[in-house]
Amino acid sequence: MTRREAIRAMMLAGAGLAAGSSLAAVPLRAAGVLPQNWKFTEPAKGDQVIHRTWPTLGGESISLLGMGCMRFPRKPGAGRRAPLDQEVINQMIDYALEHGINYFDTAPAYGDSERATGEALSRHNRKDYLIATKMSNFMNAELGACKTMFDNSLKNLRTNYVDYFLLHSIGSVDDFKKRFVDNGLLPYLQDLRKKGTIRHLGFSFHGSNAALKELIAMPYNWEFVQIQLNYVDWKDMPLEDSSEPCDSETLYKMLEEKNIPVVIMEPIRGGALANVSSGLKSKLAERFPQLSPAGVALTFASTPKAVMCTLSGMSNMQQLMENVYTFSHFKPFNAQDNEYLMEMARLYNANPHIPCTACRYCMPCPRNVDIPGVFAVYNGSSDELMLPDPANKKDKGFKEKKKAFLKRYATLASGTDASVCVMCNACLPKCPQRIRIPEQMRKIHKLVKDLG
Ligand code: SF4
Ligand code: SF4
Repeated sequence: MTRREAIRAMMLAGAGLAAGSSLAAVPLRAAGVLPQNWKFTEPAKGDQVIHRTWPTLGGESISLLGMGCMRFPRKPGAGRRAPLDQEVINQMIDYALEHGINYFDTAPAYGDSERATGEALSRHNRKDYLIATKMSNFMNAELGACKTMFDNSLKNLRTNYVDYFLLHSIGSVDDFKKRFVDNGLLPYLQDLRKKGTIRHLGFSFHGSNAALKELIAMPYNWEFVQIQLNYVDWKDMPLEDSSEPCDSETLYKMLEEKNIPVVIMEPIRGGALANVSSGLKSKLAERFPQLSPAGVALTFASTPKAVMCTLSGMSNMQQLMENVYTFSHFKPFNAQDNEYLMEMARLYNANPHIPCTACRYCMPCPRNVDIPGVFAVYNGSSDELMLPDPANKKDKGFKEKKKAFLKRYATLASGTDASVCVMCNACLPKCPQRIRIPEQMRKIHKLVKDLG
């Protein structure tokens, strides 16, 4: 058996399928891979994801579903430290292209992603795909270092031009000036745009409504902008370190008004909206029986007309197939659907959440805290209404909640929980969600201690 065949057999086994069967021919739901209560149908061989065409981008036709390359699969064995699994990535990218996905989003900040994406894509005709990558100059914004970062991106991606280039994760106007204006980088990038080395220039944004308003009023001819948009952040996306208002709806509408195509990130909020509580899952299934929770979130994010591309960071073939199905049978939501989801957002937000999207920009922690892992335990317990309150130990259900929470907390690898945080603040400036990570760690550690 060749390595390729072995990988395929492994994938099939992982999907509960027999070796030799066709991935497209065996229903995943029947195989027990997808929840039985979802009326999910696998994509057929000829299914193509929907495209939208953009007059301001030279009439470019872009798949409404974009492949986020930040959460690519890794080889089994060494957890997050394991190398990316290039063979599975190649298969996923082949499948994506075969089904009409033509937008691939990566960044130098995503570890080995640019190299793996370049290796997989370069096996295809360069004209068949669009590459989006970024200037991730968070740690060193000196001009020479930024130029080197750009050159490395071209090398890793095995190309001599980038289709969509983004200033990565602008958090405020000050941040923008420091990382892109004061160092002379923006004229350099604009020059690359004139030469065609960058075809389209934009930025990704994690800040307040007021900051975006100011940024898009500047005379830089932004051709597209990437924002966080999902149904739980639509009405309110509070920034932990600022009282300035922020919500997906206002961000989106400002861009639409300026006729700037919008790329959507975190449509599923780092996976949280694919794994909602069982109560919320049932309510979603009642109204949207054809869609999984992830499909609901992706359809909501992709419905607005100025959305150019919705990015989904896919980690395995099942997620990719499910997304391909959603976008090849895409039906935009109507006003009543959206209203229903606002009610779902109210239910979701009724429980406390730390707005971590598991992007891992904060990692590694010098003390080895598994920051996204700790937050996932907290959020997961909250979603399931299993977050114990030590101030109310006599409450009905306290013991059960305590037991369930501590059991979940114990799944964190030894020496990686909140207790080992020394509040050094090294993670603080790296978090695009602007979470006060050390404070949250202290809060969670106190919760665990108080339960003891
Ligand atoms: S503040 Fe805590 S979690 Fe953050 S880097 Fe320091 S030790 Fe790690
Ligand atoms: S804490 Fe912030 S930086 Fe770290 S994984 Fe979560 S969202 Fe990303």
